[in-house]
Amino acid sequence: MQRFDIPFNKPYIAGKELYYIAQAVMVDEHLSGDGPFTKRCHEWLERHLKCKKGLLTHSGTAALEMAAILCDIQPGDEVIMPSFTFVSTANAFVLRGATPVFVDIRPDTLNIDEKLIASAVTSHTRAIVPVHYAGVSCAMDEIIETAHQRRLWVIEDAAQALFSTYKNRFLGTIGHLGCLSFHETKNIISGEGGALLINDEHFASRAEIIREKGTNRSQFFRGQVDKYTWVDIGSSFLPSELVGAFLFAQLEQAERIIEVRNRIFGLYYKHLKPLHDQGVIRLPFVGNECACNGHMFYIITKNLEERTLLMQALKKEGILAVFHYVPLHSSPAGQKFGRPVGNMRVTNEISDSVLRLPLYYEMHDEDVARVVRVIEQFYGAESSS
Ligand SMILES: *Cc1c(COP(=O)(O)O)cnc(C)c1O
Repeated sequence: MQRFDIPFNKPYIAGKELYYIAQAVMVDEHLSGDGPFTKRCHEWLERHLKCKKGLLTHSGTAALEMAAILCDIQPGDEVIMPSFTFVSTANAFVLRGATPVFVDIRPDTLNIDEKLIASAVTSHTRAIVPVHYAGVSCAMDEIIETAHQRRLWVIEDAAQALFSTYKNRFLGTIGHLGCLSFHETKNIISGEGGALLINDEHFASRAEIIREKGTNRSQFFRGQVDKYTWVDIGSSFLPSELVGAFLFAQLEQAERIIEVRNRIFGLYYKHLKPLHDQGVIRLPFVGNECACNGHMFYIITKNLEERTLLMQALKKEGILAVFHYVPLHSSPAGQKFGRPVGNMRVTNEISDSVLRLPLYYEMHDEDVARVVRVIEQFYGAESSS
């Protein structure tokens, strides 16, 4: 495997992660789920994001699976989502026997095109899953309005969007349910990890049960019932306390982490803006209603061939830049289980032309400058730095 001077992503320690892990083992003597650190993470999420209830899961995928169960998605149901997303967005619903219905994305934000959603709704539709790509918000007012008219659930896939806002509300707290990820490639990390945000109170007690293998164990520990038993379907969706301990240390530093990422995002933007203005490449678009968490910096090239050549040029200089999703509607499982609506033109184009640049907490300004220089040289541009 080639080692890169400037990798695409790099996990990091932000503060007291290792100290808290030791504390969980040696002081709290609690390693299974829902110990003191997991509870601290729940409180932190509820307080800082202003959501009714936050529950840690072992992944963003698990949070999406819990959401599908909570919304009682059944075989034959349809769930509207973008095709330009990670497989878990669709898989969670396919596991319940539902059909993902894929809608094209907007060319500016690369998020689901809210104007196309109404035409995808049928009598079988149960939910809309907006994915906030790169931490940039979907047009939530329009989506919530469509969902309200058609009586659909809104489950936000906010895996990339922790701490981003839409009209001053945190992403993941606007729909009925929101799903976060703490995978090592996200902003705030715990290796694997995630959280389900519950914004509609009526889901709260059932969510605890589904997360604890279908038992009322959480109520038992709070002394609300005198024995615990099997009451619903469920699985083991909760993370180990080791994950909670690591994550809590990251959450304590969240503000600083987001600040650092936004600074790197800003540097890339400033230096690459001339190429954008000349129409050579296209840079990310963040609308006025959104404050972004600096999750990802991408550029959009002319086409697949140009992107491949640029990736090679970067690789030669020890820099790893990567493309993103194979559209779900053209993947083998997506064709088998899902259905696209319309021609998916933007999704197909973007999938061929988007290139994600390195962005991680410990990235130096000189690293950003190096990446920018290779891109400028590739396009024969004057250096901006
Ligand atoms: C990362 C991601 C997920 C899955 O999260 P995991 O924690 O890796 O399971 C789901 N949806 C999107 C859009 C993601 O980026």
